[in-house]
Amino acid sequence: MKELVLKHLKKEQDYCSGEEISHKLGVTRAAVWKAIKKLQEEGYQITSSTRKGYKLIVSPNVITASEVKDELQTKIMGQEIIYYEAIDSTNNEAKKKAREGASEGTLIIADQQTAGKGRLGRSWISPSGEGIWMSLILRPHILPNQASQLTLIAGLGMCEAIERVTGLKAQIKWPNDVVVNSKKICGILTEMSAQVEQIEYVVVGIGVNVNLSSIPEELPYASSLAIEGGKEYSRKKIIATFLEIFEVDYTQYVKSLNLNFIKERYEQSCITLHRQVKLITKENECIAKALGINEEGALMAQMQDGSIQTVSSGEVSVRGLYGYID
Ligand code: ADP
Repeated sequence: MKELVLKHLKKEQDYCSGEEISHKLGVTRAAVWKAIKKLQEEGYQITSSTRKGYKLIVSPNVITASEVKDELQTKIMGQEIIYYEAIDSTNNEAKKKAREGASEGTLIIADQQTAGKGRLGRSWISPSGEGIWMSLILRPHILPNQASQLTLIAGLGMCEAIERVTGLKAQIKWPNDVVVNSKKICGILTEMSAQVEQIEYVVVGIGVNVNLSSIPEELPYASSLAIEGGKEYSRKKIIATFLEIFEVDYTQYVKSLNLNFIKERYEQSCITLHRQVKLITKENECIAKALGINEEGALMAQMQDGSIQTVSSGEVSVRGLYGYID
């Protein structure tokens, strides 16, 4: 109902009386009024005048299910979208929905996360109205130890989506952070539920700092697209473009079950390669030169003794010698 009222207001671009809308849509005026209230609660600015009726002021940068779907040209990803104004963590909600049987491609979006999660129990700062905080439910027929490969595909997809929508040069910090001007713009947290050899579901959680005008002091390596680009960007366009790129790559991946088909694109976008990096594990830290990725998405690194080792993404954090990248 509210979608139909919204469509009508968008089409008219001017005041429409409640009576006119109720007549056109064949519903009561009370139903129209209810729908308007709901839209206002979601963040749409709708003015009302007793004489002239309702007018949509601007279609703000909202990322409700219907707004994102308007932009979307996919067959699986985002066909079902569940939007929350605020939620603790979209990954937690996605896991709950997945357990309840949500289908592959279901997307959970929140305008704000109150307890957003990063890797290794870290937290992800997710203020309202400014970022993309979303989680995608997947049900691939792959082995549990292959799930981390989906994170690389998602990282590449978001890197390319950001470039396409904003024109900014985005790069990937292996395995799955997206950076602009060497600053962290996006993080990805993949979680799964599996039984021995079989995956029940995978949840790919993605956080993108889109229109944040400032970054909290505790995140010296982070930035936002708005800060780097000097203007605001459409969150729904970035979401839709990401889902389109990801759908194509994911479909290819579940057929080929290796990352050879994206290796070239990934390596071209990867800021980590050809640099000296610090590899940090729970036990120790070492310095190595990042050479490339293999077909499983692991980092090929040349150690200081000249040997080449394969580093898989679950085990390490990668940093520059002095800071986040350099
Ligand atoms: P890592 O970079 O070690 O792999 P994650 O990708 O899991 O870590 O992200 C968690 C870390 O990201 C947090 O410890 C915090 O330093 C940082 N962080 C939290 N919120 C944001 C944000 N909105 N933008 C950029 N970085 C963030």
